[in-house]
Amino acid sequence: MSKNYRIYKDQFQNIKNTEQLIDQMKRRFEDFELIQKISNVGYWEYDFQMDATTWSNQLFLIHGIEDDFSMSLDQFFTLIHPDDRARTFERFNVALDEKAGYEIEFRIVHPDGEIRNVVQVTEFLLNELNELTRIIGFVQDITVHKKLQLSLVEEEQYYKSLFINNPDSVFSFDLQGNFLSCNPALLETFGFREEEILHENFDNLVESTSREKTNHFFMETIRTRLPQNYETTGIHKDGSILEFNVTNIPIIINDELVGVYGIAKNITAQKVMERSLIDAETNYRSLVEQSIVGVFIAVEGIFIYSNPHLNKMMGYDTITGLKVLSLIHPEDQQKVIDEISHLAEGESIQNFCHRGIRLDESIVIIEVHYKKVLHQGKLATIGTVLDVTERKQTEELNQFLAYHDYLTTLPNRRMFEEQLDERLKSSRITNKKVAVMLIDLDRFKYVNDTLGHSIGDVLLKHFAWRLQECLLVGQTVYRLGGDEFCIVLSEVNHQNEISRLVDKLTQLTKEDFVIEGYELHVTISIGISMSPEDGSTVETLFKNADTALYVAKSQGRDQTQYYSSSLNVQSFKHFNLSNDLRKALDKKEFFLMYMPRVDTQTTEIVGVEALIRWKHPEWGLISPTEFIPIAEETGLIVPIGEWVLREACKQNKIWLDQGFKPITTSVNFSVKQLIKPNILESIDNIIEETGIAAGQLEIEITESSFISNEIEVTQLLTELKKRNIKVSLDDFGTGYSSLYLLKQLTLDTLKIDRSFVEEILTDSVNRSIIQCILTLANELQMNVVAEGVETAEQYALLKELQCDEIQGYYFSRPLHVEAFTELLRENNIT
Ligand code: C2E
Ligand code: MG
Ligand code: MG
Repeated sequence: MSKNYRIYKDQFQNIKNTEQLIDQMKRRFEDFELIQKISNVGYWEYDFQMDATTWSNQLFLIHGIEDDFSMSLDQFFTLIHPDDRARTFERFNVALDEKAGYEIEFRIVHPDGEIRNVVQVTEFLLNELNELTRIIGFVQDITVHKKLQLSLVEEEQYYKSLFINNPDSVFSFDLQGNFLSCNPALLETFGFREEEILHENFDNLVESTSREKTNHFFMETIRTRLPQNYETTGIHKDGSILEFNVTNIPIIINDELVGVYGIAKNITAQKVMERSLIDAETNYRSLVEQSIVGVFIAVEGIFIYSNPHLNKMMGYDTITGLKVLSLIHPEDQQKVIDEISHLAEGESIQNFCHRGIRLDESIVIIEVHYKKVLHQGKLATIGTVLDVTERKQTEELNQFLAYHDYLTTLPNRRMFEEQLDERLKSSRITNKKVAVMLIDLDRFKYVNDTLGHSIGDVLLKHFAWRLQECLLVGQTVYRLGGDEFCIVLSEVNHQNEISRLVDKLTQLTKEDFVIEGYELHVTISIGISMSPEDGSTVETLFKNADTALYVAKSQGRDQTQYYSSSLNVQSFKHFNLSNDLRKALDKKEFFLMYMPRVDTQTTEIVGVEALIRWKHPEWGLISPTEFIPIAEETGLIVPIGEWVLREACKQNKIWLDQGFKPITTSVNFSVKQLIKPNILESIDNIIEETGIAAGQLEIEITESSFISNEIEVTQLLTELKKRNIKVSLDDFGTGYSSLYLLKQLTLDTLKIDRSFVEEILTDSVNRSIIQCILTLANELQMNVVAEGVETAEQYALLKELQCDEIQGYYFSRPLHVEAFTELLRENNIT
């Protein structure tokens, strides 16, 4: 500023006269105003002598006020922004003291409130005496410049922040690849300090196998002057490997390439994740591919994936691409649609069974687990499929066999009971009758015995077919077992319906059965009962039909008998059996079975119990428990008993004669036999007649024999003892089990009943009782036989308890004489 003044001064020195001077000054003043205008610089001055302030036009403009404005120096400060006022004032005062010019920036406030930035240069003019004469000021409006400057600063900060705060590594290289700059993220990522990196080549941070690639892209950035993006691996200061996605950007200034920027995003964690996803995907895929369960994904009714097992199951190379419904049995399609279509995403159906159709059109029964999922943005059905054809067939067969007879495939007894029960229940509601018709083939046993079981079986099958042909709706035939069939008629309105069926059934046997060349003439006996008259439960109806059947049979077969309560079947049966019993002895229908008694410790056969059997011509084998009571009632037990005793003694002697070691034969005696007056005589006779040693004979009596006959029986026992005939107490434990009785009587053997032995393992009380009996028997020097030993465990325990003898199925069932002889032979050898 002072330099400008010198120019003016020089010019003024050349002025010669006043006019010229005024003219000159005027011109200069105009120039001065123009310059101010152009440069937007205002001027003011304060003259000390005149104590006056002068403002240039431009200064008025800068302040936004009228040019006729006049103000004092103090007033001038009021135009300054209040925040800048004190500072400006202070600076002025300091300068005034020092009489030294200064430059200051501050804000001014226009009358309309607008704030402008200005810079003011203040100069102090002095005279020769170094006294202040004037203060001049140049004020420039720098608002625009200031704003520009501010925005530049902001921009720089913005980019700096982008550089410094960037979470990715940001850096620049020179054209040789040496670092020019790097941000904190890079230092942190690689674990280096800035000074370790700057001016070093990027090679040091790149993992050796990636150097070539990284270098390539760096060179490409330089060659093409275009950004390059690539993935590479870096190396941390600690040696660990890092993975990056790098973008290189050329730095071009004034069209000249001066370096390369880089941004490296650390993708190590992401890569690890990606790799583990790929691993998982590979694992799952191979799991699915090798699975022995069918797996599929279907979208919009089309298979978009199917694993090899499912393809094979359905008989295709692949079912992918096929319609799902095309592999489902037509009759099951609607069922599948109904089940699947209502499923929402995430919902599933488990174990849904339906039929599939293979390529060769065969049927496969499948069990499917369907689930709806989102697959690639679409609702898809995924499923696992099991071929359950075999399982279902077995299940069905088992189910069938549970309710059907294997031979004739007719429904069986179980089905009969269940269905009859249901029909009875509904008949109570409908008020209709239910009839049970039992049918038995007459003399079927004869066919079996003479022609063999296989022919018997075929006869039963043919008979079953013919039966089925006779039936109408509401009539069902069952095979209850053996040659026993049953027809249930439900909703019977009239007796006629039954008699019509009976007619058909009797017609049915008119024609002979021709089986393997044999012409078999078969007749049937029928017993009928009807609800509600003859009972309203399965049991009573069946029992009464059975009674009727029994009567029909007894009346000479080929008969039909309706049950009626007047049929006193029990006595009828009694009557029949006792009639037959009477003849049985003559007809030689009795025979003996032999059951061994063995020494518990050595398992050697030491005795045998003779057990009677009745082979009834019509009813087959009849158990002694059924006919002995009748024989007792009718007194027939005496001759029968005598026969048994004779037969058993004879056999004992035969075995002895055959060279077997002597064994005791025990024979069961009923009380009626014991109290028969000349019983001793007949025993003596038989012993003599058969030649058995009396000591080899044992008579089995039961506790009940003593009741009301104590004296006779006791006497008899004494007599038997005299003859050295042994006596055993049978079924001990079932009746009175009086230990007192044991002491009173002189018995040789105690036979513990089967019911005790049965529970010996499970019931500790029973075991204690047996132990107690054994101790007592030991004291009384009685021999103890455990009856009904069926298992090895029972045997082991009895052996441990030192029971003398064992009798039971575990060693042998009752045997025919030939079989028993064979057993003796083996037993004697070993
Ligand atoms: P009991 O004298 O107690 O004869 C034993 C019965 O138990 C026999 O039945 C025999 O087969 C059976 N038994 C033996 N061990 C086992 C086993 O381990 N398991 C099973 N479940 N049973 C076993 P059976 O032959 O039917 O004789 C029944 C009863 O008939 C006899 O019982 C006896 O009281 C009477 N009895 C048999 N024969 C005659 C006889 O000639 N005269 C008389 N008066 N009664 C006889
Ligand atoms: Mg017995
Ligand atoms: Mg017994």
